[in-house]
Amino acid sequence: MKKLAYLLLILSCLCSPFYNKKKFSEYFVPEKVLECYQQTINPEANFPLGHYIDSIYLDKEKLKKFEEKLEEKGYTKKEIEKFTKIFLTRDNIIYNEKITSNKDLKERVTMHERAHSLVARLGKKEKEILQKTWRNLLERGVFSNLCIYNPCAWHIITNREEFIPYIIDGTFLSLEDTLRINYPDAYKIYERIKKEVKENK
Ligand SMILES: [Zn+2]
Repeated sequence: MKKLAYLLLILSCLCSPFYNKKKFSEYFVPEKVLECYQQTINPEANFPLGHYIDSIYLDKEKLKKFEEKLEEKGYTKKEIEKFTKIFLTRDNIIYNEKITSNKDLKERVTMHERAHSLVARLGKKEKEILQKTWRNLLERGVFSNLCIYNPCAWHIITNREEFIPYIIDGTFLSLEDTLRINYPDAYKIYERIKKEVKENK
């Protein structure tokens, strides 16, 4: 009986959506490399300190462009191969290496990108709960009110994927209470992700 309980415990751990989440695939790269990537996939976007690979944006043509840009910056073939591999792997997290010199910034950026990774791995039902919550908050004008104090709120309004990461990294901490009081199901998911992000620090 004891053996069975033990087996069940192992099975439940293996089936947990967070089983594979003990480690993040994180890479610190020079700013120049992120700049080349950014210019290749979306020249108009803001320059990122961190980037989560939620899907592969480098198609054949863009990959060639990216490699050319890296070559222009003086990187060797071997280095270019190493960088492209990082950007071509889903669920990788890539950081601008300059964040390592600022402890607070590093903490904020890593928490944000790790939250992206954990949200992406949620099950369908949990994703739906978060999406519904996001839509409801959007319709209630909660995000546009935040814009008055912080232009970053625009990211949450235009991209629902940014909703949880921006609360977890502390940018919109006030929303934590909003979730806890008005959206208990979403709060449970949020709390678990936050714990997981911190445990892996
Ligand atoms: Zn983000």
